[in-house]
Amino acid sequence: MNLLKASQHLNLIVEMASKLFLPFSCILFLASLLRANSLSGNGGSLKAMQGCRKGDTVNGIGDLKLYLAHFGYLNYKKNPNASDLEENHFDEELEVAVKSYQVYYHLNATGILDEPTVSQIAMPRCGCRDKVIHMHTHNSIHTVSRYSFFPGSPKWSRGQLTYGFGPTFPTRFIAPVDQAFGKWAAVSGYFTFSKAASYQGADLKISFERVDHGDGGAFNGSGGVLAHAFSPQDGRLHFDADENWSIGAMPGFFDMESVAIHEIGHLLGLGHSQDRSAIMFSSISSGVTKGLAADDIQGLRALYGR
Ligand SMILES: [Zn+2]
Ligand SMILES: [Zn+2]
Repeated sequence: MNLLKASQHLNLIVEMASKLFLPFSCILFLASLLRANSLSGNGGSLKAMQGCRKGDTVNGIGDLKLYLAHFGYLNYKKNPNASDLEENHFDEELEVAVKSYQVYYHLNATGILDEPTVSQIAMPRCGCRDKVIHMHTHNSIHTVSRYSFFPGSPKWSRGQLTYGFGPTFPTRFIAPVDQAFGKWAAVSGYFTFSKAASYQGADLKISFERVDHGDGGAFNGSGGVLAHAFSPQDGRLHFDADENWSIGAMPGFFDMESVAIHEIGHLLGLGHSQDRSAIMFSSISSGVTKGLAADDIQGLRALYGR
């Protein structure tokens, strides 16, 4: 290969990597994503691990490692020679990751799988990762901002965006998603959202998807991961079709509008917030509704300079 070809080849790789990295930044490419996601919402296997600490070897620890890696807490360089037993071993790296997770969620950083930590892991959540490069935790007299952006702070270069719904999106949930767009439009001072003439031509493509749907972020059936969305300017937002969705607060159901507001935040460029009151907090309970908090609005305004 001559020098010119080599450099063209390298440019192509760099171009491909930069195209792939941003849209996929909220989704980790893990072959065993289903396994990792199955931890969330799987009270049984988690309960068995409660109290685990460094040095322990217990079934399910491997799943915990995948879960923490998926959401950005563990950089586990997989040893190809590791046996299954070693995978279920609570090692030094896992202890560091558990502490990092505990710090993020404002729990005691014990490094032990104590009850508050197990309860947080069991919460239904968004599939996008928590740990990102650009994190804001500045304090001022009046506010503590805990919003974040995606790596590189990607954003939309225009404020007029269109959205459309995939062919299997249930029509009764269109109204709550419309409402969710209205919430962001009302506070942004920048965005207006309108229905696209066609789904294919929409800037923001919203669909119901099941299990592995070809974007590297397989859903896991009922519970666990509820939805995910891609950073600007990809525009895809996927809801897990296997969840119980509702319009408003209903016991055992997830409110479509609340989750839509969260995922639209990702579409616009916001990452997860550490503020539990923020809509951009990573998890949500069933049977509740949630809306925009001051932290969410500050985050969007900071990103778009308003
Ligand atoms: Zn999210
Ligand atoms: Zn998806």
